[in-house]
Amino acid sequence: MKLLQSFRGRLVLLFGSLSLLVGAATAFYFEQAASQEVAQSRGAALHDVSRSIAQALAENLRERDREISLLSRFPVFRRGDLHSPELRLHLEDIKNSYRHYAWVGVADTDGTVLSAAGGLLEGQSVLKRPWFIQGSHGAYVGDVHEAVLLAKKLPNPNPSEPLRFVDFAAPILGMDGKVRGVLGSHANWDWVQEVVQRALSSQHARDGMQVLILNRKGDILYPFAAIGSPLPPELARVSDGYATLNWPDGAAYLTSKVNVAARASTELGWQVLLRQPLAAALAPVKQLQQTLLLIALLASLIFMLCALWLASHLSRPIEQLVQVAQRVASGDESASFVTGQHSLELQTLEASLRDMTLQLLARKQALADSNRLLEQKVVARTAELSELYHLSPVGYHSHNAEGIITQINDRELQWLGYRREDVVGRLHVSQLLPPECRPAFAGHLAAMQQGQSVSTEDTEFVRQDGSTLHVRLSANAHFDAAGEFVFARSAVMDVSTQHSLEMALRSQQQLNQSIIHASDNGLLLYRADGQCLLANDAAASILGTSKQELLTQNFHHNATWQSNGLQQAALRALDGRMERLLLNGHSSFHKAVDCQVTLLPVAHEGSTMLLLVVKDVAELMQANRELEQLARVDTLTGLANRRSANERLHAEFRRMQRSGSSYSVLLLDIDHFKRVNDTFGHESGDHVLQFVAGILQHGVRETDLAARFGGEEFLLLLPDTAPQHGLQLADKLRASIAAATVPLVGRVTVSIGLAAATADDADEDAAVRRADQALYAAKHAGRNRVELAGSDNVAAG
Ligand code: GH3
Ligand code: MG
Ligand code: MG
Repeated sequence: MKLLQSFRGRLVLLFGSLSLLVGAATAFYFEQAASQEVAQSRGAALHDVSRSIAQALAENLRERDREISLLSRFPVFRRGDLHSPELRLHLEDIKNSYRHYAWVGVADTDGTVLSAAGGLLEGQSVLKRPWFIQGSHGAYVGDVHEAVLLAKKLPNPNPSEPLRFVDFAAPILGMDGKVRGVLGSHANWDWVQEVVQRALSSQHARDGMQVLILNRKGDILYPFAAIGSPLPPELARVSDGYATLNWPDGAAYLTSKVNVAARASTELGWQVLLRQPLAAALAPVKQLQQTLLLIALLASLIFMLCALWLASHLSRPIEQLVQVAQRVASGDESASFVTGQHSLELQTLEASLRDMTLQLLARKQALADSNRLLEQKVVARTAELSELYHLSPVGYHSHNAEGIITQINDRELQWLGYRREDVVGRLHVSQLLPPECRPAFAGHLAAMQQGQSVSTEDTEFVRQDGSTLHVRLSANAHFDAAGEFVFARSAVMDVSTQHSLEMALRSQQQLNQSIIHASDNGLLLYRADGQCLLANDAAASILGTSKQELLTQNFHHNATWQSNGLQQAALRALDGRMERLLLNGHSSFHKAVDCQVTLLPVAHEGSTMLLLVVKDVAELMQANRELEQLARVDTLTGLANRRSANERLHAEFRRMQRSGSSYSVLLLDIDHFKRVNDTFGHESGDHVLQFVAGILQHGVRETDLAARFGGEEFLLLLPDTAPQHGLQLADKLRASIAAATVPLVGRVTVSIGLAAATADDADEDAAVRRADQALYAAKHAGRNRVELAGSDNVAAG
């Protein structure tokens, strides 16, 4: 097999096959051509042989025929006594002249044998024998038949076969021309064998040639073994000539046929068939073919040897190159492609291989260099990665299927306080956890080993000293190609700071919640889109609803917020301005409220939210109202004070401006009050003031105003009161006071100035000033009297 793959093997095989193919084709061609040629020449030769047999047969028949005819005309037969010994001697001579004559005799016209060679059949009748019947009328040649009368009288040289004769007869004519008898002879059919053997040489017999002689009907006359049997009609019909025919035995024969033209007295219509097995006929061709094939084989062998030599010659340099290439391949870099070849193609190949080798070696060197560099890089990178692994701010450990830690980085060791040799290959990963966390962790491990993803979880690690470390753990399982768990690597983050911050934040949040909910101010937090996010109990209580209700609120869609101005204030607050509103009315939950709402913008995670601080001010408002009231009352006398009087004056002045209804102003001053103080003491003075105030308060109408305007000076405002009516009232009061006795003090009097406000007044003070002037006039006029401003009307006691 390897031989076939080699250059030599293929070349030898190619040359050998080609020459064999050409040789075989040539042999086949020659065989075909020669077969035809040989078949023709053999056919012609066969035909010649059969023709010579036919001629020999014809000549023999003709000769015997002519011999008997001639003899019958001999005088001894025509004139002599047919019984005579002389004739018998003559017949003997005739019989002896041809060794195949079995019988020669003469019969008379009655058919009785008169004389015969050897005296055979003499006296016997041959009347019914064809030769006699036919011979009586003319020369006759009878076809081959078995001996009848002579069969037992003649010795048979070939006992296995019956005696067979060919009859020749001729009439014996007397001198008168009349038939006086018949001369007949029986030639032993053996002669045919002699004819055939003469015509066929022993070579012919060796070549398988066989002769058949047929009678007119086509029955076989020769060879003896087949006598009487008919030839198949298709062969009998073959015309004169030669051809290759298939015989009934199935074999092909070169067959020749010739009609025996005896030109004797009776034409027997014999035919000579000569056949030769085609294989025997073409034997030379076969031999030629074998010779040619032998030559072709020899030629192939020679060609193959030549090819071998040529291939060796051609492949040697290639093999040398291969050896050099193998040396190069096995690492011998000193091997050189210099083989001293002279063929141009090989020189080119050699040069190409040399160049290629040099290039390959250069590349190999470059590859080795780059490998070295790469290895250095790998070492450096590995060191870098190892440093990253160990000094990462994240802890790493890996554990195997049994849960034993197989790898851990320096960072995690540092956190845990373990030594590496106490952990790797010894510590079960669950031992890193506090005992109460281990059952849950075992579940996680099992799930992970079955391929389920495990989420990151926060847990605690127990350090070697027993203290705990809050960590965030995330693990990654690794499986082999068969899906079996191999190991898991966990990343561990120290979240203790975050944990404490979260705790602090949670505590702060709880505190904030407590503060928010403890506050008696309502606190509400809204998003900019109007949605309520937070509400405390106080807000729910103040606004008359539940926290849940408040949390469903959106101030953009609240009719109450729109109507009471809260919504506008909210929008302004969201723009960054603090707003404060006092609400007196109903909350959006229909509770009557008195509250102060402060709207504050709160920046949170890039957006602005709205904080509402709702303060219940119902009590405050009440107190204010009371204070307000107090601020308008004189504490000593219970009358309106000066501020209240001024407000009322202003209001009445404005009313007068609107409606034109005038009013009167009275200014009343206690006469010589200083003396009272001086005489009875300041406290008694106060009693006097209270006493006068009481009279004034009871002396005016409800719509009127009595106020303490100064130390011992009072003002009365009488709406819709004309000056005359005012004067009457003033005087009535003056008289009441003057008539009364103040306990412990006795009698006091008052002076009163009265003025009517007019539409021409610039302000409310104008009338007061005029009243004051009138008072001054009343004092000046003697006191205890009433003076009307701008007139002479005075009432005095
Ligand atoms: P005239 O008749 O001119 O008004 O004399 P008079 O003494 O009343 O005048 P004057 O205005 O000089 O004195 C007023 C006095 O009233 C002086 C002051 O001590 C006294 N007085 C003012 N307010 C009070 C007060 O509330 N209680 C007491 N006991 N005395 C007061
Ligand atoms: Mg006074
Ligand atoms: Mg006075």
